Amino acid sequence: MTHQEHPAERLEIAGFEPFSACDWPGKLAAVLFLQGCPWRCGYCHNFSIIDAKKPGVIPWQHVADTLTERRGLLDGVVFSGGEPTRQIALVDAAQRTKNLGFAVGLHTGGQYPTRVQALLPLLDWVGLDIKAPSEKYQAVTGRAPDNSKPMRTLHMLLDAGINVQVRTTLDPLTLDEEDIVTIREEVIAMGVTDYVVQRVRPDGTNPEYAAALAEYRQKTQRGVSDILPMT
Ligand code: SF4
Repeated sequence: MTHQEHPAERLEIAGFEPFSACDWPGKLAAVLFLQGCPWRCGYCHNFSIIDAKKPGVIPWQHVADTLTERRGLLDGVVFSGGEPTRQIALVDAAQRTKNLGFAVGLHTGGQYPTRVQALLPLLDWVGLDIKAPSEKYQAVTGRAPDNSKPMRTLHMLLDAGINVQVRTTLDPLTLDEEDIVTIREEVIAMGVTDYVVQRVRPDGTNPEYAAALAEYRQKTQRGVSDILPMT
């Protein structure tokens, strides 16, 4: 498999944010939202872009031209999704981004460890979702049987010495505080120093989930703070 077979031009890009201060901690970055994801997390706030059969709407050339104009104005580029590592053309896109002089960041659920392996020499930072204790992965993602692939991805990133932030979205419909403690202890034992719990947001989710969350919150009158640092 070569870059020529899967050039960046084949990337299915669902969205492009040229300036973001909140997708890579401490950095000003452009963000590409790549089409498609194999999982179906109820709380997915990018629900509209997870269908892998839908084509992208933004050509790579537009992204490349914009990045070329913004050299020196941005610290880096984050590939997000959907699940960006689903697309093989990501490797060439990350290489070309690096060639333009940008640092490369990645948001991933860790579904494709072998794709992450191919990206390792290009990555400067990764936001990796560890979504649940292993036995709850199916309930949270709707698809993954357990946490084996995300954990393989995490091992690989740590072994490569890449800066990684592990994140868990605290979905009160599937997780509780005990689950967060379990995940936190497991990843800290592996060597993670940056672990955050994220607030679940109803905006952009599928309507059934948004309704179920609203009902839950009404019943319990309970929420979580915006982002709870767990270090
Ligand atoms: S892994 Fe991420 S993009 Fe995919 S369904 Fe879950 S929240 Fe959405």
